[in-house]
Amino acid sequence: MENCLFCKIAAKQIPSSIVHEDDDLLVFKDINPAAPVHLLIIPKVHVSTLSDCTPEHAPLLGKMMSLVPKLAADHNIAVTYDEQGQPSRGFKFLINCGPDGGQEVYHLHMHLYGGPRPWRGMRT
Ligand code: 5GP
Ligand code: ZN
Repeated sequence: MENCLFCKIAAKQIPSSIVHEDDDLLVFKDINPAAPVHLLIIPKVHVSTLSDCTPEHAPLLGKMMSLVPKLAADHNIAVTYDEQGQPSRGFKFLINCGPDGGQEVYHLHMHLYGGPRPWRGMRT
């Protein structure tokens, strides 16, 4: 896809801080992080929005989401439990879709936010 920022990042034509790469996905640090940990998970293939996905995309979407626990563990934001079973840490996982959803880059991406609060621009 010409002139797609995240296609260019996936093709390494534009540099990024890559934290994970496999045959289908690239994960890199958001250039303007809204939280101490802010990662973007993208498919290497161009898909504009979640609205453009069909059931055929289920394996790709599943692969993106099922990578989150490993990314969270690697970045020290996985949920942990104390002896009383109280949870701590954790993260937010978000997809913006279309103008009303606040999407700015039209190449499907999943945001992973974590780390000590407060986070910029987020109340919950
Ligand atoms: P959206 O609003 O589309 O869901 O999120 C787009 C995200 O991409 C934003 O959080 C923004 O900071 C990030 N971003 C935009 N341009 C670049 C870039 O060139 N490199 C990186 N690493 N992140 C970018
Ligand atoms: Zn693209």
